[in-house]
Amino acid sequence: MTHPLIAFEYCPRCGSHNFMINSERSRHCSDCGFTYYSNASASTAAIITNSKGEILLTTRAFEPAKGKLDLPGGFVDMNETAEDALIRELKEELNIDVCNPQYLFSLPNEYNFSGITIHTLDMFFKIEVDDDIKIKTDDDVASAQFYDLKLVNIEEIGLNSIKKAIKILKH
Ligand SMILES: [Zn+2]
Repeated sequence: MTHPLIAFEYCPRCGSHNFMINSERSRHCSDCGFTYYSNASASTAAIITNSKGEILLTTRAFEPAKGKLDLPGGFVDMNETAEDALIRELKEELNIDVCNPQYLFSLPNEYNFSGITIHTLDMFFKIEVDDDIKIKTDDDVASAQFYDLKLVNIEEIGLNSIKKAIKILKH
């Protein structure tokens, strides 16, 4: 995997090759003066539980970690709150309408996408749903099912931040 600052050799503003690593998270173009900062993308994940305290896990339809267990959620769009992003993603992925997600904690994550290391900051929210909720998976989710948290095998989970979050919830 390649850090984005190593991979991005040309200035995205003027195309110059005089685009040098400037700090741990920036490159500076000596031709046009532009400084590019490489920041983590904001992302969300939902800890959805039913009345039995079971947790909803999804199976990933695409890479990275295709076929592995995951939590529903996704990236925050520009000019969107994390709460609104999560509500939108749950509609897209599970076709459910939720309100009032409760913020729990955040974890940094990185994964490989097209050979580039993608850095994210994943924000986890708790949502309680009715036991008879109708879920219809779509988008990047292959399937979804409620699990007894004690029986979830951490090694079946694809992404490191999600593994860490499930470990936190198990304790
Ligand atoms: Zn430039």
